[in-house]
Amino acid sequence: MISFNKPPYVGEEIKYIEEAVKAQKICGDGQFTKKCNKWFEDKTGAAKVLLTTSCTHATELAALLLDIQPGDEVIMPAYTFVSTADAFVLRGATAVFVDINPKTMNIDENLIEDAITEKTKAIVPVHYAGVSCEMDKIMEIAKKHNLYVVEDAAQGVMSTYKGKALGTIGDYGCYSFHETKNYSMGEGGALLIRDGKNAELAEIIREKGTNRSKFFRGQIDKYTWVEAGSSYLPSDMNAAYLWAQLQKADEINENRLQSWNRYYEGLKDLKEAGKIELPYVPEYCEHNAHMFYIKAKDLEERSALISYLKENGVTAVFHYIPLHTAPAGKEYGRFHGEDKYTTKESERIIRLPMYYELDEQDAKKVMDLIHTFYK
Ligand SMILES: *Cc1c(COP(=O)(O)O)cnc(C)c1O
Repeated sequence: MISFNKPPYVGEEIKYIEEAVKAQKICGDGQFTKKCNKWFEDKTGAAKVLLTTSCTHATELAALLLDIQPGDEVIMPAYTFVSTADAFVLRGATAVFVDINPKTMNIDENLIEDAITEKTKAIVPVHYAGVSCEMDKIMEIAKKHNLYVVEDAAQGVMSTYKGKALGTIGDYGCYSFHETKNYSMGEGGALLIRDGKNAELAEIIREKGTNRSKFFRGQIDKYTWVEAGSSYLPSDMNAAYLWAQLQKADEINENRLQSWNRYYEGLKDLKEAGKIELPYVPEYCEHNAHMFYIKAKDLEERSALISYLKENGVTAVFHYIPLHTAPAGKEYGRFHGEDKYTTKESERIIRLPMYYELDEQDAKKVMDLIHTFYK
């Protein structure tokens, strides 16, 4: 069976985890957490980066920093993972969903302004498949209406928009290091703070509302409870796993891009014959090959293709039941405007096996099967 995902593993993970264990510092903010934070600050240019226990938690932390209150509204696509909405509705906000652009499956930036009310507090673009949303336009709207922007860049680590790292364009950015993402630590994430504003408050909320980080830096002589907070810092053993991968960040990225390009070239004929659609990447967006998807004609054809692949030893999957159609989405959100593409396009997507070191022969088998299916 060719699996859909394999967690990234480069070989040095165990060595670094052992180092963390031997240093007898396995709780949060040990040496590996600090190294990872610094690595991302250097790589992305964000003023402050803090590893968290997940991307969901990074987004929750952002919602706390924005002081989201019951009744506030937050604009986002309905075609996304539940975490995007969870973080805000947990604080009592309403998720206001707008339609996507079918070419990229990202929020349609031209529909955002119409969804703004006096209750709107933030816009949350989701960079689907590691391909950036139209950030210039989104930032312009946010500025005009005095709104915050929190980027859900869970899938966008190492991707750029006009040369800028995803997650560093909005006020806050959120990364995921779940095992299904390009770089992993099992469960984990990071909050990126673009210009350092609220960096100290972020540290405090992440550390149970205490000023413990300042204490460890020797800036104060005892630490105490100063804010309402939570615990969003990961174990240093998890950070050690991630650190191993950051050492090979470019290699992982290039390897994935190679697989992605192989799929694209190998399936182009079916696109040209009008049988399937392939992903679209605007020329000013550098993507990270987080995902390779194709679009079938409709739900029925997609189901048939997924079954056919499965019968022949290939796991391909679909995802995202649009949030506004889910029970919690109906309770905590509303769709603004017409659902022209969200539902329809979500029913056409098939994600092909994609991971670091995907075997070339396996990818070829997947493509051969797709060709046979469409014959
Ligand atoms: C994976 C993912 C998340 C959640 O990440 P966790 O680290 O598992 O919390 C959020 N948003 C998007 C778009 C994702 O793909």
